Amino acid sequence: MSWEPVIGLEIHVQLKTQTKMFCSCELSFGDPPNTHTCPVCLGLPGSLPVANEAAIRFGLKIGLGLGCELAPRSIFHRKNYFYPDLPKGYQISQYDEPLCRGGRLGDVRIHRVHLEDDAAKLVHVGASGRIHGADSSVVDFNRGGTPLVEIVTEPDIRSAERAREWLILLRETMRQLEVSDVNMEEGSLRCDANVSVRRAGESELGTKTELKNMNSFRFVERGIKAEVARQVALLEAGQPVVQETLHFDPQSGSLTSLRSKEEAHDYRYFPEPDLVPVAVTPEMVEAVRAELPELPAERAARYETELALSADSARALAFRPELGRYFEAVLERADGAPAQTVANWVAGELATRLGDADPAQSKVAPDALARLVAMVGEKAVTAGAARQVLDRLVADGGDPAAIVEAEGLGAVGGGDELAGAVRAAIEANPDAAEKVRGGKAQAIGPIIGHVMRETRGAADAGEVTRLVREQLGV
Ligand code: ADP
Ligand code: MG
Ligand code: ZN
Repeated sequence: MSWEPVIGLEIHVQLKTQTKMFCSCELSFGDPPNTHTCPVCLGLPGSLPVANEAAIRFGLKIGLGLGCELAPRSIFHRKNYFYPDLPKGYQISQYDEPLCRGGRLGDVRIHRVHLEDDAAKLVHVGASGRIHGADSSVVDFNRGGTPLVEIVTEPDIRSAERAREWLILLRETMRQLEVSDVNMEEGSLRCDANVSVRRAGESELGTKTELKNMNSFRFVERGIKAEVARQVALLEAGQPVVQETLHFDPQSGSLTSLRSKEEAHDYRYFPEPDLVPVAVTPEMVEAVRAELPELPAERAARYETELALSADSARALAFRPELGRYFEAVLERADGAPAQTVANWVAGELATRLGDADPAQSKVAPDALARLVAMVGEKAVTAGAARQVLDRLVADGGDPAAIVEAEGLGAVGGGDELAGAVRAAIEANPDAAEKVRGGKAQAIGPIIGHVMRETRGAADAGEVTRLVREQLGV
C-alpha cells in the first residue's frame, strides 16, 4: 500500500526596505560587522521601536499578490526567548492578529502572512577566535532588526519535487513584486518544511516533523525526500513518528534531531506595549494594489488558457517577465504564427543565445524575429537556416530577409530545383532506393541525407521526404 507525503512550508523573506523594521538603521549586506546599529536594534533598555511604513506596505503587497485577506487592524507581539543573536530577549512578531490571512499561490493555499524583525547573525569563528582556550562565536548586529515576512502555507503540497517547484514560483512572485532579493544562499529567502506521511486515500493528517532552515532549493527537495523515506520506514516497521524539529545535513544526507515536542519553546507571546496597532486604510491598500504587476502564476495561467502554450513554455515565459513581454511583442507582429511556435523561438532559441540578458536590450528587434518566424512558416527558410539567421541577428541585428539573401540561406524551394536534387540522390543511392521500394521505409535515410548535404541544409526535410516517396512511388 502506498504512502502519501503531506508538506506545509514556512518561509521567511527579508524585505528590501531602505531601513530596518523598527529603527532607522540602513539595511546592509556584506558591510563590516556592527556598522549598522543603534539603541533600538541593539535592544538597549529604554529605546523605543517605531514600525517601518515601507515594510508594512511591502507586507500588504505580498498579501495582495497572494490573494490574502488584509487585516484592517493587526498587532505586534513579543515572542520571548534567549539567544546571543537576540539582544532584546524577544523577537517582535505577529501572533493572533497577523497582517494577512488566507490566499493562495498556484495550487497551494496560504494560511497567513505576518511581519517580524530578524535576529542578528551569530558567526562561529571556532579555533581562530579562541577565548580562554575555547572556540568562540561572535555576533554581527547588522542583520538584527531587518524586516521579515513569514509566509505559512496550508499542508497542501504532496511531494518533495512539488515543494521545490512551488518555492521557485514563490521566489519569482516575490522578485516580481520587488519586495526582496529572495536569495537563498544569502539568506534573504529561508524555508522550513513540515512533513508527514499517511496512507494513500486517508484524510487524517499524520504526525509531522519540521525540517529547519534549508538553504537551497535542491536541499529542500532532498531533505523532504529523506524525511519522507525515514517516516515511511518507521511506520512500516510499526513504529510511531515522533513530533520533533530536525536538521538535514546536505553533505551526509542525514537528519538529526534538534528538539522534541517536550522541549518545544513556550514563547510567552504578549502584545508589544511599545507599538501601536497597525491600522491599514483602504487608501493604503488601493495605492499598493495600483503597483501590483501581473504575477507569474497569473501570467502562466493566461498563456496556457488563452494561447494554449504548453505548461513548460508558459512557465518559462512567465517566470521571466522580460521574456514574457518580449514574447508578446513578437506574437503581436507575427501575424497568424502559432503562439507555441513563437514561444519556442523566444523561450528556446533566443533565450539560449542571450542567457540572462533582457531580449528587449538585445539587437534582435521583435519585428525581425516575427519576420524570421513567418519565413520559417512559409518554408522560405528551413528551421536550421533560421537558427543561423538568428545567430546573425543576435550578433549584429538587422533584417532576416536581407541576411538570408546575403548568406544564401534561402530554402531550396519546392518545384524543379529540389526535385532535381532528389532525383540525383536516388541515383547516387540505388541500394537504399531499392529497399524503400521493397517496403523498408526506414531505408530512406541515406537519400534524404544526400539531399540535405547537397543543399547545405537549405531544403525542408519534410518536403524532401515527400518528394523522395513520390519519385520512388511509395
Ligand atoms: P505548529 O503549531 O507546530 O507551528 P501549525 O499548525 O502552525 O503547526 O503549522 C505549521 C506548518 O505546518 C504549516 O505550514 C502547516 O501547513 C504545516 N502542517 C501542519 N500540520 C501538518 C501535517 N500533519 N503534515 C505536514 N504539514 C503540516
Ligand atoms: Mg509554526
Ligand atoms: Zn537600529
